[in-house]
Amino acid sequence: MSTQGIGDPFTRLFGRYLRDLGLPVTQQREVVADVVFGTDGHLSVDDIERQIRSRGERIGKATIYRTLDLLVRSRLVEEHDFGEGFKRYEHRLSRHPVHEHLICLECAKVTEFESNEMYGIENRVRAEHGFAPARHRLEIYGLCRECQEAGVELPNEGLMCPIETV
Ligand SMILES: [Zn+2]
Ligand SMILES: [Zn+2]
Repeated sequence: MSTQGIGDPFTRLFGRYLRDLGLPVTQQREVVADVVFGTDGHLSVDDIERQIRSRGERIGKATIYRTLDLLVRSRLVEEHDFGEGFKRYEHRLSRHPVHEHLICLECAKVTEFESNEMYGIENRVRAEHGFAPARHRLEIYGLCRECQEAGVELPNEGLMCPIETV
């Protein structure tokens, strides 16, 4: 079995996390971690499985799920639920560690953007509520430019708000 590609510092960090928990650092777990750390994207389990296969490896879905669970618990990876009926996984310490998400309801494309305003909101929350923000999550759902240009329209049946728009 090939071990090429396993050398990402985050994969080694994950290995240390597993050892600290007394869990075995298996080659399969390392491959799953390496795939997730090797991209800045938002990967579904299917995406991850495809990349594993393209590396010539075979890892069962159950192992992938268990490893993702450990990666999320290690806080090296963030789990997203963009309402697609499955989860997506993202390296938390990728090139742009702090960013927000735009999710297209038509083609499911996820676009990242940075928002300085969110820091202002955190500061205001701290001042007004005496709350100490640690992290936040901002997801905006709608139509991407391509889908709008293709003429896609969203049905206006209770998507955002139960009040009927005329
Ligand atoms: Zn779209
Ligand atoms: Zn992201």
